[in-house]
Amino acid sequence: PSAPVKFVYDFTEGHKDLKDLLGGKGANLAEMTRLGLPVPPGFTITTEACRAYLETGDEPAALRDEVSAHLDALERRMGKRLGRGADPLLVSVRSGAKFSMPGMMDTVLNIGLSDESVEALAVQAGDERFAWDSYRRLIQMFGETVLGIDGELFEERLEAAKHAVGAVSDVDLPADGLRGLVAEYKDLVLANTGRPFPQEPREQLDLAIRAVFDSWNGERARLYRRQERIPQDLGTAVNVCSMVFGNLGPDSGTGVAFTRDPASGRQGVYGDYLQNAQGEDVVAGIRNTVPLAELERLDKNSYDQLLAIMEKLENHYRDLCDIEFTIERGTLWMLQTRVGKRTAAAAFRIATQLVDQGLIDEAEALQRVNGAQLAQLMFPHFGAVDGDRSGASEVGRGIAASPGASVGAVVFDSTTAVEWAKAGRKVILVRRETNPDDLAGMLAAEGILTSRGGKTSHAAVVARGMGKTCVCGAEELTVDVKARTLTAADGTVLNEGDVVSVDGTTGIVYRGEVPVVPSPVVEYFEGRLDPEAEDADDLVRAVHRLMSAADRARRMRVRANADTAEDAARARRFGAEGIGLCRTEHMFLGDRRELVERLILAETEPEQTAALDALLPLQRADFTELLEAMDGLPVTIRLLDPPLHEFLPDLTELSVRVAVAESQNNGDASQTRLLAAVQRLHEQNPMLGLRGVRLGLVVPGLFGMQVRAIAQAAADRRAAGGDPRGEIMIPLVGTVQELEIVREDAERVIAEVERERGVELGLTLGTMIELPRAALTAGQIAESADFFSFGTNDLTQTVWGFSRDDVEASFFAAYLEKGIFGVSPFETIDADGVGSLVRAAVTAGRATRPDLKLGVCGEHGGDPESVHFFHDAGLDYVSCSPFRIPVARLEAGRAAA
Ligand code: ADP
Ligand code: MG
Ligand code: MG
Repeated sequence: PSAPVKFVYDFTEGHKDLKDLLGGKGANLAEMTRLGLPVPPGFTITTEACRAYLETGDEPAALRDEVSAHLDALERRMGKRLGRGADPLLVSVRSGAKFSMPGMMDTVLNIGLSDESVEALAVQAGDERFAWDSYRRLIQMFGETVLGIDGELFEERLEAAKHAVGAVSDVDLPADGLRGLVAEYKDLVLANTGRPFPQEPREQLDLAIRAVFDSWNGERARLYRRQERIPQDLGTAVNVCSMVFGNLGPDSGTGVAFTRDPASGRQGVYGDYLQNAQGEDVVAGIRNTVPLAELERLDKNSYDQLLAIMEKLENHYRDLCDIEFTIERGTLWMLQTRVGKRTAAAAFRIATQLVDQGLIDEAEALQRVNGAQLAQLMFPHFGAVDGDRSGASEVGRGIAASPGASVGAVVFDSTTAVEWAKAGRKVILVRRETNPDDLAGMLAAEGILTSRGGKTSHAAVVARGMGKTCVCGAEELTVDVKARTLTAADGTVLNEGDVVSVDGTTGIVYRGEVPVVPSPVVEYFEGRLDPEAEDADDLVRAVHRLMSAADRARRMRVRANADTAEDAARARRFGAEGIGLCRTEHMFLGDRRELVERLILAETEPEQTAALDALLPLQRADFTELLEAMDGLPVTIRLLDPPLHEFLPDLTELSVRVAVAESQNNGDASQTRLLAAVQRLHEQNPMLGLRGVRLGLVVPGLFGMQVRAIAQAAADRRAAGGDPRGEIMIPLVGTVQELEIVREDAERVIAEVERERGVELGLTLGTMIELPRAALTAGQIAESADFFSFGTNDLTQTVWGFSRDDVEASFFAAYLEKGIFGVSPFETIDADGVGSLVRAAVTAGRATRPDLKLGVCGEHGGDPESVHFFHDAGLDYVSCSPFRIPVARLEAGRAAA
């Protein structure tokens, strides 16, 4: 027979590794109890009980009995009865899932108070005011969170009661006022629910427990879980904890503390304390808190004890902890702890400090930081929040949706943004919210500011995709697009053209120009800051140490996507170990466009040869530079990929120009010929049209010219004493036959050059895997390929049937909002869909050719989560834009550590 399920754990029974069962709060309360810290006794109802309740819509019978048994034990231990007798026991009911989650039910304090027990409590505590204050808090919290009554209604009554006696703060309300307030609150409950406020303590407890269970399925909680990819079926635990009182007078109080500064990571005493208050007052900001250090003066005993506990907790959890505590008439109680959130800079500093203290090793330190944090440290910023603002003043705050620090003139529409930017002005596009019509303006702007919408709003999603600074949902700012004004809560009005500074890392908006500070971390990567110097910034030192650890740990190589020698050199400084993608189309732009045009328009073989001959030396020079910048390291050069029409004028514009010229009898034969070519090459769906290997197969001599240029460049580098390691990559292959034909031609050209120059060039030939068919037939394709490079941008487009250029701006915001995906599949690889094709291709490719070299060269190569996926999939390297290289190095190290 299976052991009976156990639905309730006393705080003395659990421990910190039971988060699945007891939730984060419950597991840590149990851990602190085990450590012998002063935790008010209580018990935790498991997530399993919650799941059983949610399945049937009713508490399992065993749960009721177990709660009764644990309550009995608690009452016996405390020598009090819940809500009864001369010294009534009161408890709090606190939600606590495995992951902390907005939208879940808050805590209800003071359960057990009733018309009867409030009188007993008053006598017992010798403080009438305290008892009635606690009772009114219970009705208010219970009314709001358990009974679902609008909290405003309670607030209004509270304000009125304060007003009536001229009280500034709630502590100034006398007992009588509170007594009257309780009566009003009870009327509110009756009027809004049709039932009186429950007087029976056990009924209060059961209703509150149920409400916590139910809140798991609240709309906001469900949405949050979809977006964060937290399973919907985990359920929440419920903690029942005997009350301790911080509102018993000036020798009582409540506070929060951190074992180190969560902003900087530095050691010291950090936290806030509020005298004569209950827990929720600190967060609610009802009265001004004092810095925790003040507690030393107010209550030295409790202060010393608290500091000792904090040290104990930090050594035990081996990490920064945040805590909640309450002091009841000089006695300290611990109410919560967890490993605390921190800024990116703090994460790096703390991880290395803990290594130095011998609390964690290097591998563990690598797990304490991540690529997103590193990326954050690489953005330019406005310096410390309390640093130099050069007279600029804060006008409002919103959601920090896309990091960076931008300064510019306010504009209210896309057209103005584009016009002003063209004229060389830096602009910030300000909208109530953005939509696809604003794209041009968003591109032209330095940053984007909206007064509506959250982290998944159109503005936020698109700005992150563009790498633009964005603050969204700044609700205290009023945007009037017609009047072209932005009005702050204090009435400050900003007009079109006024300068603002937008901090995408903190969400703060300033009027005026805040000086931008370059990132010291970038200076370090650029080689301009020595991390080992005497006076080196401790952040730079920490980043250097962890990067070195990551480099030692990682198995995957990290390459750069770079097309110029300059980018290649920069990438190399950032730690790139080669080029994973050189896009040759970028070498065909500018002045060279004309040569490409000549190639496209060529009607005879001599015309074509002449056009190719003109391009050859230019390409050769490009490749020579690149191979030189990456001497000794692999350089993957992709043959021409985009549709040819991209090098020609726009069809509509050219048609109009030719028509106008003809109507004025001013026709030009070459223009007419060009128009014919543009019409011939026009495609409805160019991304699925004549491009990649298809071009190489139908435009004679094109790929041959590129291969020749690469081979000659390699030969030149060799002659100059260099060590060129060229790799030729064929894009958009769908079948091995395409590759075979191109390969044969290429090998012939390379052999020719090798004969002419009398050298062996060691060039390899491979392909991109970016079409589903290529992935599905990877075993065959590997017969003709020395390497695969997964082009996950195109692969994502073709696997999902998404047009990347369209969908991100049109409906992705809606998809994110509905939780269909937590993050765009163009940002983080879709491991289940696209990823399973990648895995299959890896397996099939290696089965054919065990030494097949495997890499990835899409945007995903620099995305933290995707890097872990590629590590697991067994790739040899990732390639990403130069600026993302440190992130990829760090994540590749974390994946392997
Ligand atoms: P949250 O998850 O929002 O922090 P908590 O359950 O921690 O919610 O409770 C909210 C506030 O009430 C906190 O400040 C906490 O310290 C306080 N609190 C919770 N339980 C008790 C208790 N038994 N006695 C005194 N204060 C409590
Ligand atoms: Mg808490
Ligand atoms: Mg592609």
